[in-house]
Amino acid sequence: MSTTLFTGGSIVTAAGARPGDLLIEGEKIKAVGRRLKSDADRVVDVKGCLLFPGFIDAHTHFDLPVAGTVTADDFTSGSRAALRGGTTTVIDFAAPDKGESLHTGLVRWHEKADGKTWCDYGFHMTIDDWNESVRAELPAMFAAGISSFKMYVTYPAMMLPDGDIYEALTALRRLGGICGFHCENAGVIDALRADALAAGRTGPEMHYRTRPPQLEAEAVSRVLRIAETAKSPVIIVHLTNREALYEVQHARRRGQSVYVETCPHYLLLDENLYDQPDYSDAARFVCAPPLRSKQEQTALWQALRRGDIQMISTDHCSFTLAQKDMGRGDFTKIPGGLPGVEDRGELIYSYGVAKRRISIAAMCRLLSENPAKLYGLYPKKGALKVGSDADIVVYDPKANHRITASDRVSQANYDPYEGFVTEGSIRQVWLRGALAVEHGHFRETAPRGQYLPRGKCML
Ligand code: MN
Repeated sequence: MSTTLFTGGSIVTAAGARPGDLLIEGEKIKAVGRRLKSDADRVVDVKGCLLFPGFIDAHTHFDLPVAGTVTADDFTSGSRAALRGGTTTVIDFAAPDKGESLHTGLVRWHEKADGKTWCDYGFHMTIDDWNESVRAELPAMFAAGISSFKMYVTYPAMMLPDGDIYEALTALRRLGGICGFHCENAGVIDALRADALAAGRTGPEMHYRTRPPQLEAEAVSRVLRIAETAKSPVIIVHLTNREALYEVQHARRRGQSVYVETCPHYLLLDENLYDQPDYSDAARFVCAPPLRSKQEQTALWQALRRGDIQMISTDHCSFTLAQKDMGRGDFTKIPGGLPGVEDRGELIYSYGVAKRRISIAAMCRLLSENPAKLYGLYPKKGALKVGSDADIVVYDPKANHRITASDRVSQANYDPYEGFVTEGSIRQVWLRGALAVEHGHFRETAPRGQYLPRGKCML
């Protein structure tokens, strides 16, 4: 098997960045250390660069039907965007329609992804029905490598009543599974939206005004209390605000295992963007939960620093501006979601690490190690350790650039971070021992992503 030696860089781990060399053989990491002596077939000079374990994005939606349309990115463009942004593994949400079996949803997601995905990938399974036949399918899901699930307490097409959530959590706990929740109070939001439309207030600025932070916090509280009763660990996905975080802290103080994810857009973009006068300028930022205030951003950064939030994923769910036009004259029809899988690594380095909001060790945990552990991929993924997959991001901290949509492979054709200037950039991305992307150019001609059957949570 051919060997490659990376020399002169710094190796980033969950303990920090240390100067060191890295030797890979075939698809795996063979050695990590100072001044490795080697007769490697190939030597890559990474002087002045940081070597991160390939980033994991545990929250993407590729090729997802939403509100009469389909996300702009499928597994091809979505995974190419991911890889270009240093993300070597995505975990997407397989989503059976209401009334379908989990098996049907899983088969469909394999059809969407297999042979078309450029990075490695796994699936969470969405549970939007709860009955005896779904319960009976759970062992087969674990056997197929699905150890994490998702339930909704909002969106009528997917939400489950509290009793079903309790029963599903209890069943998953017995099997060693873990479940994430989208938390917003559906009933009150629906009432606020109906009131707004009835009053003739139909613009995109009503999106955030009808989904206030306390309605997220209420749903977080309810989900946590149900999980407490089911004696089940729980994941709160895309948490956005302080009130929701208080509920998490309260649950942890009473002894619950709660894992929290937030997203780059809640850290870097704010709700004033919805008040822009031009429809398209505002509608492009519609996602749920919505962007929040600058004070909430500050609180989220603090929570990341304290370790109260374990992961930063993107919730990449992209639509073109033409698709966002579906909501002209009725903000409730704007397809919700933002692209981000191409931007996350450089954004978190630039606006987190370089601005000293979080340490480089924290970035490694938030983007690589924690999602690998939480979702049963560690230590194959999530760390630059001997025996781990050689998924490597070579980051040049001096190569600043300006983010612009014309440089993006995402099919959204706009970038929410347009004009943001980065501190440094991703020079190379290696997937299982092979150079996949260099200076933004693909070095491979065909998708090589593998499906990752996952084990149990070990965070
Ligand atoms: Mn999502």
